[in-house]
Amino acid sequence: MSNSRHPYSLLFEPVQIGPVTAKNRFFQAPHATGMGFTYPEHAIAYRKTKAEGGWGVVATEECMIDSNSDHSPSPHMRLASDADIPFLARMADAVHEYDALFAVELCHAGKSAANKLTREYPLAPSQTHYWSFGPYVAKTADKSDIRRVIQAQADAARRAMTAGADIVYVYAAHDLSLPMQFLLPRYNRRSDEYGGSLENRVRLFRQMIEATKEAVGHKCAVAVRFAVDEMMGPGGLEWQNEGREVVEMLAELPDLWDVNVSDWSNDSGVSRFFEEDYQREYTDFVKSVTTKPVVGVGRYVNPDRMVSDIKKGRLDLIGAARPSIADPFLPNKIRDMQIDDIRECIGCNMCTTNVLLSVPIRCTQNPTIGKEVDGWHPETVPVRRSQDSVLVVGGGPAGLECALTLGKRGYDVTLAEAGDALGGRVIQEAALPGLAAWRAVAEYRIGQLAQMPNVNTYLQSPLDAEQILEFGIPNVVFATGGPWRRNGMGRQYSSPVPGWESGNVYTPDDIMVGNCPSGRVVVFDDDHYYMGSVIAEKLKLAGCDVSLVTPVAEFANYSKFAQEYGHVLGRLVELEIELLPTHNLTSISPERIELAHAWTGTPKVIEGADIVMVTMRDTASDVFHDLEARKADCAAAGVRSVSRIGDCVAPGPIAMAIHDGHRWAMEFGGPK
Ligand code: ADP
Ligand code: SF4
Repeated sequence: MSNSRHPYSLLFEPVQIGPVTAKNRFFQAPHATGMGFTYPEHAIAYRKTKAEGGWGVVATEECMIDSNSDHSPSPHMRLASDADIPFLARMADAVHEYDALFAVELCHAGKSAANKLTREYPLAPSQTHYWSFGPYVAKTADKSDIRRVIQAQADAARRAMTAGADIVYVYAAHDLSLPMQFLLPRYNRRSDEYGGSLENRVRLFRQMIEATKEAVGHKCAVAVRFAVDEMMGPGGLEWQNEGREVVEMLAELPDLWDVNVSDWSNDSGVSRFFEEDYQREYTDFVKSVTTKPVVGVGRYVNPDRMVSDIKKGRLDLIGAARPSIADPFLPNKIRDMQIDDIRECIGCNMCTTNVLLSVPIRCTQNPTIGKEVDGWHPETVPVRRSQDSVLVVGGGPAGLECALTLGKRGYDVTLAEAGDALGGRVIQEAALPGLAAWRAVAEYRIGQLAQMPNVNTYLQSPLDAEQILEFGIPNVVFATGGPWRRNGMGRQYSSPVPGWESGNVYTPDDIMVGNCPSGRVVVFDDDHYYMGSVIAEKLKLAGCDVSLVTPVAEFANYSKFAQEYGHVLGRLVELEIELLPTHNLTSISPERIELAHAWTGTPKVIEGADIVMVTMRDTASDVFHDLEARKADCAAAGVRSVSRIGDCVAPGPIAMAIHDGHRWAMEFGGPK
């Protein structure tokens, strides 16, 4: 784009990277998808959609380069044999269709590769005890192992080039990679030329870059991905000392510096604990010590900030993993000045959750991600198949997404919401500590709906079956949500907890509408995701004396998959919230909350406390059942179909409600 009057023209300037040129500064950074070699068709369609959306560079996830770097059961890609080339070649072709450069991230995972499939010994600079899908001890790499790693990197680079790669990576970000493990004294206790001084500890990294350049440097750019800081203080790599020295030592060797922070939970920091652009203070120095182009990440969604960081000389290319997942068309929308149409990443990490579960990626904001192969597209939908109209009852995430997708398809939609505002649970949850970014789930959809003349929205409209029959709209879909249960039923208890009707029992819904306890409070978390800790934090900040209780050994254990576990636990400890794991809830009264140790039965009493039950959500589906049962009335009123979607079917993460709303709207009217 050559229009210099375009406010973001800077972002569309080409960038020379070694022997290749990126058409713009948008760089879809390498990131895992949970699809890798297990779902190749999904993986190809996924990367193709990114290229279609305008990214100048589209990178793969980690490609394992050798049989002793086998990440199974994680289905990362592989380039350890020539048999892996055709899959990658098809991906390269798909990316090239849109003039994007194709970058291949080669990886030797060292001690982090459990090698469950190949059964080889994992390699480490020095013998290391490690946990990856079970405990094991990694073998000290001897000289022949090191030679094999370097050869494997060169061979994989050649395979990548054969497949059509424009950029080939040497991966040393996070301590999940062998060159990084060699760099870190806590793993490297060697006394040979690969251990001791920094010069020695960086040797493997340098040799892998050199071998890659020699193998493919005449045709492909050679990039490094390097985490300059581990965000763990003097116990780890810091950008002020060795992090910086490594970049200085290797400054001109690669063609591109892709820099970030480690570990993954810091690199993909959740918005609850990390703001947009948070990596800059660590990576800012890199441009000052190399003349090579620099790319960095940090949940970039704001084009003004992108321009500002480039103008300030912090970066040459805007790297994005999560923003490219939430909106694969981010570059094209900025190009076309459709800024309000950008589906902003909310930093919830539902994407990493699926990846860490080794299943295809999903996204809260973008229900189409990972479903491209099924014909789902982030921007286009099939046109309507009839003149039918639909009443959507409930304007939470499911109802909003359903109305939006139906509206885009061209159907006439009436959206009725009982409350004063659209957004349902997501607006309420976004008011809890640290979750403000989640508002974008509702705001994006409300903004899109406002532009649609065929969607009419009615607030303060709690509908019952009678009113719905009076409307006589032929298709009714309920998206009426799911309130939290008060009686303690959930994973641990299949019947109500004795005393739950005592009057001192609250739910997260109470807290979210401002009906909060004061003084001594027990938060009972049998949900095991974010809600228990967020409610505890809110009440503590409001001055309550909070105990967080859970029947299992770990708090918020599902948040491990969202890369926020350590940060959540740290926050609870910082706030001096009393933590009582492995405690069951025996009974409740206004005078005493009775607990018992889950393993020993040892009782514990908390006197004079209120309790918040964060256990299980119910379904708000009474009106649905009422209407569904009145078949003759429906027929007489012209109501032909009655359905329900989202939390009023089975409450779950917001991503599930968004997906279900989208699915229903895509399937409406029958197959294409
Ligand atoms: P989901 O996540 O499935 O979208 P939410 O709980 O976020 O569910 O949203 C459900 C929305 O439905 C809420 O905003 C609620 O006010 C609204 N709602 C519930 N019952 C009715 C009803 N009978 N008529 C209209 N709106 C309703
Ligand atoms: Fe962003 Fe959440 Fe989507 Fe991941 S799942 S890309 S963090 S909105």
